[in-house]
Amino acid sequence: MARRLRVAVHKFSSCDGCQLAFLNAGEALLALAERVELVHFLEAGPADEEARVDVAFVEGGVSTREEVERLHRIRDQSRVLVALGACAGSGGLQALRNLADGRGWLARSYPHPEWLDALPEVTSLATHVPVDLELPGCPVSGPAALEAAAAFLRGAPPERPREKVCLECRRRGLACVVVARGEPCLGPVTEAGCGALCPAAGRGCYGCYGPAERPATSALAARLRELGLEPEALARLFLAIHAAAPAFREEGLRWRQAACEARLPPRAGDEPLGAGP
Ligand code: SF4
Ligand code: SF4
Repeated sequence: MARRLRVAVHKFSSCDGCQLAFLNAGEALLALAERVELVHFLEAGPADEEARVDVAFVEGGVSTREEVERLHRIRDQSRVLVALGACAGSGGLQALRNLADGRGWLARSYPHPEWLDALPEVTSLATHVPVDLELPGCPVSGPAALEAAAAFLRGAPPERPREKVCLECRRRGLACVVVARGEPCLGPVTEAGCGALCPAAGRGCYGCYGPAERPATSALAARLRELGLEPEALARLFLAIHAAAPAFREEGLRWRQAACEARLPPRAGDEPLGAGP
């Protein structure tokens, strides 16, 4: 009988939502569990963090020295490492502290911040170790995660779709929320894979699958500005779940700077502020 694939699911700095997406897959997860040996998945029961595995799914960003060391151990003992969700892919919401006074937040929240082992910045898994596959989303799609595991079972690593959310809207026949209602939407610059979940519910995409390949962030931001979105709102749109992903970070910071300049009282000789940065 063929050896069963050994699989582990690990957690780093995260909310557990991506692990729950796995668990919510219900019967499909049970069917997969019969074909693989689930050796470590604390949310589901098995606990053997040091086990050697074929595939390690890792949720969460890296925010402490202990996590850096643990991640290297996991990489060494895994044939394939899959980054699960936005936190693992770019640092996720935790990385918002990279753009703020993170140390000040710790000092205000904890009586002994010196006991904490927080690194100056939250980073993605790929900042520290080679990652074989990134599954985007906040949370990741449960079926996509199971399909990735099934693909490794078949010996054919899954391919990541490189489309944008807009194409999913077209395929579903959804009216564009920007064109039809002037709603802010990051769909034109966000990687596909969710099935246009938010536009289907009548709201704009907030980019939880992260920047798509070659995202035209400046063109989209300029159009949303024309539609009346203020610089501060534009900054918030880009600096959210993927605030540490370079494409969204750069665009968001440009608009944050524009918002700051708009708040400054004009000085003698200043040129009037334009529509954008
Ligand atoms: S990507 Fe989103 S759902 Fe997944 S662990 Fe991070 S915050 Fe939670
Ligand atoms: S539409 Fe955008 S924000 Fe909504 S689930 Fe899809 S990628 Fe995430």
